[in-house]
Amino acid sequence: MLNIVIFGAPGSGKGTQSERIVAKYGINHISTGDVLRAEIKAGTELGKTAKGYIDQGQLLPDELIIDILASTLDGFKESKGVIFDGFPRTIAQAEALKKMLAERGQEVSIMLDLDVPEEELMTRLIKRGQESGRADDNEETIKKRLVVYHSQTSPLIDWYKNDGKYQHINGLGTMEGIFAEIAEAIDKI
Ligand code: ADP
Repeated sequence: MLNIVIFGAPGSGKGTQSERIVAKYGINHISTGDVLRAEIKAGTELGKTAKGYIDQGQLLPDELIIDILASTLDGFKESKGVIFDGFPRTIAQAEALKKMLAERGQEVSIMLDLDVPEEELMTRLIKRGQESGRADDNEETIKKRLVVYHSQTSPLIDWYKNDGKYQHINGLGTMEGIFAEIAEAIDKI
């Protein structure tokens, strides 16, 4: 089983690199952001709740997102592994993921930290907002998301270092170059 956590600030390229990892290694992909955007589009109760948090640049409550993650995970049958994209985002979520995988006789194989300088993140997200119209990719919300990243999410770097799963990836460069570094790290597992 290849269980990969793809990690990084908003705009670090998690989604793009996840697609490549899925294509090369044939594992399942869970993007919590994509799951929530689909719920919003479908107009469900969960979607309505999620929209309130997302538009404010805030994280959803841990219990809610952990439940969503668990049910998505249970939907994968005969899986070769999973790439977790956008989860975990807090220490409580990392602990829940560890427990959830342990209950299934599994563990996280590697945590890939896509490291991108702050100015570059801003530029990428503003551009993405103009192209895709994603409601949370506007300057004000992006700034809030980066603050949330630094306060609630970046402590996971040390958490995964302590867990012996941390792998730094230089997130600046061409998409192919970054993927080559990722594939090298995965192939060493
Ligand atoms: P990005 O990585 O660009 O911030 P995502 O698509 O991963 O974008 O997430 C968009 C939003 O969805 C987040 O800002 C947050 O409000 C919500 N969200 C996604 N994943 C989680 C999570 N694991 N815990 C709490 N909220 C989440």
